[in-house]
Amino acid sequence: EGPVISARDVRVWYGTTRGAIRAVDGVSFDLAPGETLGLVGESGCGKSTLGRGLIGLLPDGAKRDGEVVYHGRDVLAMSPKEAYRLRGSDLGMIFQEPLTRLNPLMRISEHFEETIRQHEPRLGKEEVRRRGLEALRHMGIPPTRYRSYPHEFSGGMRQRLMIALALVLRPAFVVADEPTTALDVLVEAQIVQILNDLRKNFNTALLLITHNVGIVAEACDRVAVMYAGRIVEQGRVEDVFKNPQHPYTRELLRSTISLDTTGLDFIPGSPPDLVDPPDGCRFHPRCPDAMQVCATRNPIEVERVGGGRVECWLRGPEAAIPEGGTAPLK
Ligand code: ATP
Ligand code: SF4
Ligand code: MG
Repeated sequence: EGPVISARDVRVWYGTTRGAIRAVDGVSFDLAPGETLGLVGESGCGKSTLGRGLIGLLPDGAKRDGEVVYHGRDVLAMSPKEAYRLRGSDLGMIFQEPLTRLNPLMRISEHFEETIRQHEPRLGKEEVRRRGLEALRHMGIPPTRYRSYPHEFSGGMRQRLMIALALVLRPAFVVADEPTTALDVLVEAQIVQILNDLRKNFNTALLLITHNVGIVAEACDRVAVMYAGRIVEQGRVEDVFKNPQHPYTRELLRSTISLDTTGLDFIPGSPPDLVDPPDGCRFHPRCPDAMQVCATRNPIEVERVGGGRVECWLRGPEAAIPEGGTAPLK
């Protein structure tokens, strides 16, 4: 069985008066059915933009290039109407802030039933209700709460409701954008558990966007590390976490472990301006290992030792490094 979704050289940029913000700048990966890919990286590196692009949910002004192939169709090139039809039925998204996505005036039952009816208008009333209740049950929410309003639920339950809503139509691919921010550790663990169950039951492929490296270790098969619009390293979680081959991945893991928090922002320096990123490797101004070549040439993506891919001159290809290029930069 082939991948459920294939991203090929995806680029997304936003026009501003300062110039184009290149939020996603040449990203490629495949995701197999039932597989979970964790996407990590500092704030502003383009994670949400990539996630939205994958399900055809980019804001109006966003320009795009490359391909996102789902069942032989390019999601990135679809009209908003086509993409809308595909969402819910095939592609789902779990958003960062549950409250803004639930209508306070609508009962939970109405949220579910409206979603189902919009995508499957021919279903009978009883069937719609049955599916709504089933989705609730999968999230461990008692059926007696079916007719409650959003404000009658705790934050953690609302987050679960959001997940249930995104999954009610059993999409083949779901993007979960920081589904666990602002939640306590217990709720976080529950949600990871639920996502894992769903994947097992329905073979849903999942892109899990998070700041929490611990969640990735616990819940994901593969990880993609994003820096300034590019995926700089990707591979199986155990390979990448045990033997990070990109200096940014290494620093990311180190800051997380040493601070025992989501210490992503504690790597010295700050991420580049995506309107005018540095020449060469975008990480070079912050990289402890930077070499001469890094300041002028973008590294070439190569196979990781142990599988996966990495984009760093330390990993080669040596033949592409000019004479003297390996001398330290500082
Ligand atoms: P966070 O971890 O804070 O959620 P992120 O990795 O999800 O960050 P994005 O939200 O994808 O990052 O943003 C990437 C870049 O694109 C940022 O510089 C951001 O300011 C910019 N950006 C995002 N959405 C828009 C938009 N609608 N219009 C203009 N610029 C945008
Ligand atoms: Fe550091 Fe150079 Fe590798 Fe970039 S290419 S991460 S600057 S060593
Ligand atoms: Mg985001």
